[in-house]
Amino acid sequence: MECAAHPDHEATGTCASCKRTLCSACTTYDVDGKTYCEACGRNVEQNSHSIGSALLASVAVGYLATLALGVALFGPKPFVGGLAAIAGIALGRLLQVVVRPPSVTRRQPLAP
Ligand SMILES: [Zn+2]
Ligand SMILES: [Zn+2]
Repeated sequence: MECAAHPDHEATGTCASCKRTLCSACTTYDVDGKTYCEACGRNVEQNSHSIGSALLASVAVGYLATLALGVALFGPKPFVGGLAAIAGIALGRLLQVVVRPPSVTRRQPLAP
């Protein structure tokens, strides 16, 4: 079996997304233990970044919502801020478990 991009190279695996055969130079990304080519890996990496920023945004929303609720219930007391921070972080953790962003590792430096 030979690499789809390099016919003179022996393939060492396939892309988990587009199923192209890949040599070691073409195996650019590791995603959750699976090998990905350059194009597919980059897509997954961008997805995982947007999931990451969505998670971060939800932490901020959770924090502000709890803060508003806490101030409405207890008035502007110091512990309300702490409570809101805990609620925001807990919400972020919960969502991280639910949506589980893929772990993307780039193996190769950018091709010249
Ligand atoms: Zn691919
Ligand atoms: Zn190759």
